[in-house]
Amino acid sequence: MRPFQKYFCAIAISLWAASPGNAQLLVAPTLHIKAEAGSGRVALTLDACGGRTDTRILSALVENKIPATIFVTGIWLKHNAAAVEIMRAHPELFELENHGGRHVPAVDTPQKIYGIRSAGSPEAVLAEVESGAAALAVTGEPAPKWFRGATAEYSPSAIAMIRKLGFKIAGFSINGDGGSLLGTKETARRIAAAKDGDVIIAHINQPTHAAGEGVVQGLLALKAKGLTFVRLDDADGVGDEGTTD
Ligand SMILES: [Zn+2]
Repeated sequence: MRPFQKYFCAIAISLWAASPGNAQLLVAPTLHIKAEAGSGRVALTLDACGGRTDTRILSALVENKIPATIFVTGIWLKHNAAAVEIMRAHPELFELENHGGRHVPAVDTPQKIYGIRSAGSPEAVLAEVESGAAALAVTGEPAPKWFRGATAEYSPSAIAMIRKLGFKIAGFSINGDGGSLLGTKETARRIAAAKDGDVIIAHINQPTHAAGEGVVQGLLALKAKGLTFVRLDDADGVGDEGTTD
């Protein structure tokens, strides 16, 4: 290639990379826990993105002694002190992990994911992850080891950055409540279908949505079948896309 052609190619590539219209390909990593002999075990992960607390779910977890990993944001922590107190009163049940400071997707180029504006730069991804961890530190909880970004989609470069900060990234294998937008029946069906090794994602911050009732029904069905629940810290989680290794 002639020098000037090379030059224009380089400009074209850099323009393409910088243009918000050319969204980076994102990945939605999966996560499984190691299978175990017996009737099987699953990990329940619940996101607290913002908003309030679904006390239907929180009470059911406490009453039925179902352990869960709760991914909290800085925004949610600020407005849900009573729920945090209940979780902290049951350290044998609840593990609190990092869902970011402001609930912006961990994508380091400017784009929208499900209508939510991405962090948009490497610096903003770092700020999102670190401010989430800092907000958790204020509660007196142990330092988080897992991170899950808003929308659970990432740019591969953001995954590498988050891993460098020392966090494992929490994908999932069962989308329990479709972003808390599914009905009661479908949510219950999806969660009740979990098998040994599955990692379920659902939401604990939408008390007015029908999905929350389905989360409770699905969990009780799993418990009745004899499955046990583990938190991410107590299980060997294996994710793809370089999220855990
Ligand atoms: Zn979220």
